[in-house]
Amino acid sequence: MIDIAIPLGSDMSAPTFMKCLCQDCLSIRWLPELMPGMEGGGLNGDGSECACDCGGEVCPCGSCVATAQMLESGVRDPDSLGVRGPINQWNPVTGIRV
Ligand SMILES: [Zn+2]
Ligand SMILES: [Zn+2]
Repeated sequence: MIDIAIPLGSDMSAPTFMKCLCQDCLSIRWLPELMPGMEGGGLNGDGSECACDCGGEVCPCGSCVATAQMLESGVRDPDSLGVRGPINQWNPVTGIRV
C-alpha cells in the first residue's frame, strides 16, 4: 500500500523523476527521484523500477544523461556517445532495439 499525498494547489509537489539511460538498449527511462534517507542507497529500493524492460540496468549519472541528451538531439556516432556501436536506429522508448 503506497500512500502518496499530492496537495492540490501547490506547485511542483508531485514526485520528481530523473532521466536515466538503459545501459543495454540505450532507451530513456524515468525513475522517481530518491528521497533523502531512503533505505538501500540505490535505485533498487523496491526492486521494480531499477531495470529496463530489456533487462538492462538503467543509470541516472551525469554522463549517461548527457548520452541520452545527445541521442535525443540526433547524435548517432558511438564514439561521441561513448557507447558500443553501431547505432543504426534509436528512439527514446525502445532505444536501439528493433
Ligand atoms: Zn533497455
Ligand atoms: Zn551512468
